[in-house]
Amino acid sequence: MKFGTKAIHAGVEPDPTTGAIMTPIYQTSTYVQAAPGDHKGYEYSRTHNPTRTALQNALAALENGRHGLCFATGMASIDAICKLLKPGDEVVSTNDLYGGTYRLFTKIFEGYGVKFRFVDMGDLRNVEEAMTPNTKLIWTETPTNPLLRIVDIAALAAIAKKHGCLFGVDNTFASPYLQNPLDLGADLVMHSVTKYLGGHSDVVMGALVVNDDALAERLAFIQNSSGATPGPMDCFLVLRGLKTLHLRMQRHCENGRVIADYLTSHPKVDKVYWPGLPTHPNHEVAKRQMRGFGGMISFTLKGDSMDDAKRVLSSTKLFSLAESLGGVESLLGHPASMTHASIPREERLRNGLADTLIRLSVGLEDAEDLVEDLRQALG
Ligand SMILES: *Cc1c(COP(=O)(O)O)cnc(C)c1O
Repeated sequence: MKFGTKAIHAGVEPDPTTGAIMTPIYQTSTYVQAAPGDHKGYEYSRTHNPTRTALQNALAALENGRHGLCFATGMASIDAICKLLKPGDEVVSTNDLYGGTYRLFTKIFEGYGVKFRFVDMGDLRNVEEAMTPNTKLIWTETPTNPLLRIVDIAALAAIAKKHGCLFGVDNTFASPYLQNPLDLGADLVMHSVTKYLGGHSDVVMGALVVNDDALAERLAFIQNSSGATPGPMDCFLVLRGLKTLHLRMQRHCENGRVIADYLTSHPKVDKVYWPGLPTHPNHEVAKRQMRGFGGMISFTLKGDSMDDAKRVLSSTKLFSLAESLGGVESLLGHPASMTHASIPREERLRNGLADTLIRLSVGLEDAEDLVEDLRQALG
């Protein structure tokens, strides 16, 4: 089955009691049993809920995986992966990591005796050098935030296989429409469903998809034991969002290209970071492992004035200044003073994160209007 058909049909059956074509919101905590242990597969909604089951199956299908698991937030899904680890275990991850993941690793799980090494995954020798017999997980994300670097998923999968450790990919920025890490050899794929999958900026949720039955069973045990599961209303909203994922992603990609080309030609713009540009340092890897380049774009202004950047950020009328991404509406943000403000300025600059860097989540509005908005804000 092709992607768009799966986005609409996968995981979803007409409701057996009424024929309702849309999966009902099973707003219930418990399920009546005919006799002790004699039930219909549902006992308590932390463990199972039919609306959640439909969504988990839909997400598994979109990532070409066998098992989907939903969590209350994206962070809760990464937290569940960390709970596969024991004191003394090591994780090799990228130095260009989502801030919340870095915080979870270093401020929570380091305290439980797990060791994390952060390396530049643009050069795979750094990954090889960081591997030890105690490495149990390689964790990456691609494209990265906010510089849209691309990491070679298949090459990392080969390293993980050689060392017999798990390999997980945060696929939030790409969405399953653009990239399927399990097909490239990953063991775990994670999403902040909050972003493109939900797509309407009205839900916070996370998900994992895996192929291995035993791994799925361990994660389902953690999901139920720790209990960070989403409610049925949120699952319904995401099921609804998924039905247009392929259409939304097509438009995000089209608008992304128009905006990236416009910014590239603008006299006040210095660098443009978008993996679809032939000048992007990882463009070849992006072409190999992605089916399109998405709607996330970052750019810097000529000069190094933080005030210039702030003037642009407060002058847009359609792009709203806000955290998050992947919704129908266009957003923009300023990593140096927002998402990455906690990183010391010297370190930020060393990682290529200029004071004038502006990140766009290009939405689904008409591209002409978005270009016009950037034109007046940059002018
Ligand atoms: C937002 C985000 C997360 C965290 O997800 P939440 O749903 O906010 O908990 C993790 N990784 C990436 C790349 C994200 O953009």
